[in-house]
Amino acid sequence: MKVRFWGTRGSIPVSVTSPDIRKKLIFALEGAIGRNLDTREKIETYIDHELGFDISGTFGGHSSCVEIDIQGAEHIICDMGSGARPLGGDMMARFGPSGQTYHIFMSHLHWDHMMGFPFFTPVYIPGNRIVIHGCHDNMEGAFRLQQSAPGFPVDFSMLGAKIEFNRMKPGEVYEIAGLRVTAKLQKHGGDSYGYRFEHCSKTVIYSTDSEHKLEDIYESESFIEFFRNADLVIFDAMYSLADAISVKADWGHSSNIVGVELCQQAGAKRFCMYHHEPAHDDQKIAHTLAETRRFEEITRYDQPVEIISAFDGLEITL
Ligand SMILES: [Zn+2]
Ligand SMILES: [Zn+2]
Repeated sequence: MKVRFWGTRGSIPVSVTSPDIRKKLIFALEGAIGRNLDTREKIETYIDHELGFDISGTFGGHSSCVEIDIQGAEHIICDMGSGARPLGGDMMARFGPSGQTYHIFMSHLHWDHMMGFPFFTPVYIPGNRIVIHGCHDNMEGAFRLQQSAPGFPVDFSMLGAKIEFNRMKPGEVYEIAGLRVTAKLQKHGGDSYGYRFEHCSKTVIYSTDSEHKLEDIYESESFIEFFRNADLVIFDAMYSLADAISVKADWGHSSNIVGVELCQQAGAKRFCMYHHEPAHDDQKIAHTLAETRRFEEITRYDQPVEIISAFDGLEITL
């Protein structure tokens, strides 16, 4: 099973700017002074092992969109944030423009999780089948509204693909596209739903836009059960702990610290911070990643939990 991240930013897409790139270049070239980087191999080793990812890369980028690849005949996607645009192009290059079935699991209907849908080219092509799964009762209305005038030039009714909506019930187990899928209600404005995907003894949790109150023991227990023994937990870690319990309490998102604690108790193997705060730059996200890794080390009481921070282009093989 492979998990590919096409959009990892929360609330609104964020682009690196020219001044950001200039700063990264200056830092990298300064660090290269006196290193005798006279071959491509040496340059690549320097970039990959000496520079931090906050200099050599970027956490990006597009808003929420994740692909789960089990090499099946049908395709599995979580959310349709702006990352759905490059995903659509890539999938058409891999599988051809038509004759494909795409299963899309919607966490909820906030615009950062839907805005990529009108730019996901397979929806325009006859012969494709798009099945939108979710637990909200107004899914179809929300998708139609997003493409209605004057907000967008192409009405939903003009889409060429066959589009279906599948309303799921939280807590029920479904077999979809070769996966066992279970949805769970999460605390978020207008509700959101997390998904547990299981395939060939591998488990991925997609849990974004979810606020956790650790003082609510019953709620915490239910998430520990939902995350139980997962190979990967993709988690809304938008805020620092300080923010999550003070100014941004009840804003519908969570912190890295809460996520690590839930994963430790659930026996999860990997914790992936996701839905990055748009105001945080690469340095800040890298700092949070380092801090989270330290927190996991000093609080570890059983097996280690690998800590990852999602970025557009990240691929994890389970
Ligand atoms: Zn969001
Ligand atoms: Zn939201």
